Amino acid sequence: MYNVAIVGAGPAGIFAALEITKLKPEWKVVLIEKGDRIEKRKCLLREGYAKCPTCKKCGLLCGWGGAGAFSDGKLTLTPDVGGHLDDYMSRDKVEELIDYADKYYLEFGATEEVFGTDMKVFRELERQASLAELKLVHSPVRHLGTERSLDVLKNMQDYLDKRITIRNDVSAKNLIVECEQVKGLILDNGEEIRAEYTIIAPGREGADWLTKEFSQNKIGMVNNAVDVGVRVELPAPVFEPLTSKLYESKLIYHSPTFGDEVRTFCMNPNGEVVQENYNGIATVNGHSYAEKTTNNTNFALLVSEKFTEPFKEPIQYGQHIASLANMLGGGILVQRFGDLLDGRRSTPERIKASILTPTLSCATPGDLSLVIPYRQMTSIIEMLYALDKIAPGTASRYTLLYGIEVKFYSARVKLTNELETEGVKNLFAIGDGAGVTRGLIQASASGVHAARVICSR
Ligand SMILES: Cc1cc2nc3c(=O)[nH]c(=O)nc-3n(C[C@H](O)[C@H](O)[C@H](O)COP(=O)(O)OP(=O)(O)OC[C@H]3O[C@@H](n4cnc5c(N)ncnc54)[C@H](O)[C@@H]3O)c2cc1C
Repeated sequence: MYNVAIVGAGPAGIFAALEITKLKPEWKVVLIEKGDRIEKRKCLLREGYAKCPTCKKCGLLCGWGGAGAFSDGKLTLTPDVGGHLDDYMSRDKVEELIDYADKYYLEFGATEEVFGTDMKVFRELERQASLAELKLVHSPVRHLGTERSLDVLKNMQDYLDKRITIRNDVSAKNLIVECEQVKGLILDNGEEIRAEYTIIAPGREGADWLTKEFSQNKIGMVNNAVDVGVRVELPAPVFEPLTSKLYESKLIYHSPTFGDEVRTFCMNPNGEVVQENYNGIATVNGHSYAEKTTNNTNFALLVSEKFTEPFKEPIQYGQHIASLANMLGGGILVQRFGDLLDGRRSTPERIKASILTPTLSCATPGDLSLVIPYRQMTSIIEMLYALDKIAPGTASRYTLLYGIEVKFYSARVKLTNELETEGVKNLFAIGDGAGVTRGLIQASASGVHAARVICSR
């Protein structure tokens, strides 16, 4: 019998474990992770495969560190981005949690430097953005880089190895619920794990499983928005006026035609575009390394769609659009902005006759207008023109658009302010999988919060 069972060794689950071992070192804690230990994790695409082999357990997303392991390790130190924790507690409280989680990262080897703290520089860029009808969000960033991110996570794994039970390569299959109280889990090998408290932190990769399992136990869910868009790649100098000062700039725009919110997301100066795989569907993302650099910068442009009744399947909506791109391109599609405007597909020859080389070499040159709905496509084009005003060259005919980038925030679990489910006692849901967060630092902070609540009972 354990005191606490945690599902998922992404930042949310790891930080919950770290905080419990700090507050209650005598407690028995088990952390269940369906992927590998950090040293065994590998993504074949990152190791040179030309095409994503769509592994049963995606090496990029599953395993110690979760989706954060091979990520760029950008810790965005503000409640304004990366999650909705401020829906559950005061802004001051979220700030305290972010600061606290950040100190854990430092303790385990994160870099000291934080970008975007010079308010004078920020105010000037904010002024320029406003002239282009863009809102620049203040978001200081601690940038680990992929290699250092792996080291920090390895240090956390070594630390927790000595203090809790870590089970890799096995999945949580069902919750054990008796008299409206969680009693533990059943694993996919049939084993029963009994625990007083259970924390579910399966990330976006495990969001489908969470939704199904929670629905079966009559735990309420609320529709979240789905963000659909493209990853933009351009020569690094185009965005240097912003990236050299802020590293990552979070810009928000409301498209004139539809009034939809379009935002930049996950900006990677001198980084590379990568493919990921959600339940067999290839989608696009990006990252950058601390040491290795490319000549390009990439970022996502995402259009947020929040559906009204009766539609309840935002994940499926996003998956269908991504599947369509996969159907046409056999994986990720890439198109030059100029070809999109000219109403023609990009071809390998046209991509070659450009001023930049795609960093995701396995992407198929094609036509994104056959895939992305008119509404989102129009909003993306309008945002590219707005960005061109503060970073001239963004709307160049050579700018590359990769599709599809989708963020499945999916259903948000109905939770109390303590992040405990409304229907089942002692069951907590945290991180991206619960629809509560969207980034490393808030996911980590949500783990700390749930751990503190449990330890205080
Ligand atoms: C390529 C990439 C780059 C990114 N870059 C950044 C960045 O620079 N900055 C930033 O803030 N965010 C970034 N993100 C997002 C960030 O990684 C996530 O927000 C964060 O990892 C979410 O943490 P989590 O713990 O909620 O879930 P995850 O990190 O997704 O971890 C969930 C874990 O649960 C496991 N799991 C799922 N279901 C089960 C089950 N049934 N049983 C057992 N285990 C299960 C999964 O294998 C996974 O390891 C990036 C994401 C990607 C994919």
